[in-house]
Amino acid sequence: MNKELGFETKCLHAGYEPKNGEPRVLPIVQSTTFKYESSEAMGQLFDLEASGYFYTRLQNPTNDAVAAKIAALEGGVGAVLTSSGQAASFFSVFNIASAGDHVVASAAIYGGTFNLFSVTMKKLGIDFTFVSPDSTEEELNAAFKENTKAVFAESLSNPSLTVLDIELFAKVAHAHGVPLIIDNTFPTPVNCRPFEFGADIVIHSTTKYMDGHATSVGGVIVDSGNFDWNASDKFPGLTTPDDSYHGVVYTERFGKAAYITKAVTQLMRDLGSIPSPHNAFLLNLGLETLFLRVERHCENAMKVAQYLQNHEKVAWVNYPGLPGNKYYERAQKYMQGGTSGVISFGIKGGRDAATKFQDSLRLATIATHVADCRTCVLYPAGTTHRQLTPEQLIECGVPDDLLRLSVGLENVNDIIADIEQALAK
Ligand code: PLP
Repeated sequence: MNKELGFETKCLHAGYEPKNGEPRVLPIVQSTTFKYESSEAMGQLFDLEASGYFYTRLQNPTNDAVAAKIAALEGGVGAVLTSSGQAASFFSVFNIASAGDHVVASAAIYGGTFNLFSVTMKKLGIDFTFVSPDSTEEELNAAFKENTKAVFAESLSNPSLTVLDIELFAKVAHAHGVPLIIDNTFPTPVNCRPFEFGADIVIHSTTKYMDGHATSVGGVIVDSGNFDWNASDKFPGLTTPDDSYHGVVYTERFGKAAYITKAVTQLMRDLGSIPSPHNAFLLNLGLETLFLRVERHCENAMKVAQYLQNHEKVAWVNYPGLPGNKYYERAQKYMQGGTSGVISFGIKGGRDAATKFQDSLRLATIATHVADCRTCVLYPAGTTHRQLTPEQLIECGVPDDLLRLSVGLENVNDIIADIEQALAK
């Protein structure tokens, strides 16, 4: 597919080009395995000498087509779908860091990612230093160690809605010879394309806007192909022979696609967190309308944010699209089409008022979710961030009165009327 096509066209067509007489809609290849005529043909696949499908844990035509579409939307050289956003976060780091290594991560990240990094990956011997997303260059520099292998941050953080200075984080990461990995789940490539600002790897929880209909948990890792893994001896997993794959050297054999090929052939082979082709098919349906939905989510969210800002019972509103917001200028630079449909705010009266408000909503549902086409609300300190200590909550930018509203695609007047009646109670 021609890379110069418009974003909307890529949403609809990238990744799958049917030939004469083939299905117009991406088929679901719900097959674990693939047939070959000879042992030699099969052997070449296992030696990575020929490309083709042999087992869905490594590659599947439906999954690959959807991954290729997302790579095209982000402007990368390749991508791999994962079974969840958590798997994407894990693999994006684990592909280049192992026991004894260190990673610098923004503290303003999804609570699940924070736990993954600070508890589970720590048990695997990978150490993380968490930094403020608003760190200065000097503060960032101070977080690096000899064994640092990557920097990880969210472009627009969940749920604190911090807009990252991607260029600054990329500059500092590169000065230390390591890649910047960006979780771009909230803005999606409709609003932000981190590779254009120097990021090297992008991940998503596709469970959110990309699927958009709350049907399928999933994730994706996208490789920009821009990072020079050979520039130092920091990444032996990519630049020296992989004994588990007949001594292949990923950077030699796969060039710009070294990182993403290793993620597929080594990590997926061994750890196997792939989505079902049926889920990839559903994700593709979501991607086909991503550009339309995200635009309307942002339009509705802006109107709701303005309404909340003017309401006497609302203590504060955080929406980076609102003039006067701490991240307004940064959002204008990095997310020109809008930020996302997610707003956070606090109601006067703290915890009790927040709970009463939540329970009084009729149209908006209480759900551990964001980015659904249906409006939903969540109280993070009592749910997704429940495992965090009061200190960690502050570090993540989640005050204990914070309500997160994910504005959906309903008529915005209905959404506002629902909020109005709940506030009145
Ligand atoms: N990254 C962000 C920004 C998220 O909001 C989430 C989930 O809420 C994840 C990653 C994890 O994704 P998943 O729930 O698909 O595992």
